[in-house]
Amino acid sequence: MSIKENLNKLNTQLPHHVTLVAVSKTKPVSDLMEAYNIGHRIFGENKIQEMVEKYEEMPKDIKWHMIGHVQRNKVKYMAEFVNLIHGVDSLKLLKEINKQAKKHDRIIDCLLQIKIAEEDSKFGMSSKEASTVLQSEELSKLKNIKITGLMGMATFTDDMSQVEKEFKFLKSTFEDLKQLNTFNCELKTISMGMSGDYQLAIDCGSNMVRIGSSIFGERNYNN
Ligand SMILES: *Cc1c(COP(=O)(O)O)cnc(C)c1O
Repeated sequence: MSIKENLNKLNTQLPHHVTLVAVSKTKPVSDLMEAYNIGHRIFGENKIQEMVEKYEEMPKDIKWHMIGHVQRNKVKYMAEFVNLIHGVDSLKLLKEINKQAKKHDRIIDCLLQIKIAEEDSKFGMSSKEASTVLQSEELSKLKNIKITGLMGMATFTDDMSQVEKEFKFLKSTFEDLKQLNTFNCELKTISMGMSGDYQLAIDCGSNMVRIGSSIFGERNYNN
């Protein structure tokens, strides 16, 4: 199936309250333009450099989501245009995003990444760390960021009961932390679910899914 067909199919399947982030990492701009040309505007990339290059080449009404792990020294390259940063996992990083956002007179929306998987390879904070950050006085001084939700990645496994357990944990963490809303923290978004598990994620309370291979096809990391 073509990119257009894949995307149209997904759009008819997804409930209206669920936002689709088309994960376009490693794919050429021509592929992204196929999605753009049938009206898609939200794209997710996991490398800042690649996202910047695509941003420069593509129409400016696109909303760019950074879904990968963010190195602090690279925040400056995307601060001018990034629409949502999914993988925020420390107060230090929030401070850097705040600093760079301020230079552009912007408020950048961020999701806190919660570690829900058992694998050590996955980034993120514990729910307790997130709660500490949300209640910290330092956070209340950051006027150029807004925490709008949480993001999580489940363990890479065929065991769907394991994945379900992790998604439910993220949802319950979200419900707990939502009580802590302040002027720069208003939790609305739960970013969870990828090509292999988005239906389960939505059943468990996700309202933002990040889907790559089911739209653009398998990724080839060799070219
Ligand atoms: C690559 C990636 C996705 C999309 O993965 P698919 O399995 O291709 O849908 C989603 N989220 C993150 C953080 C990713 O890096």
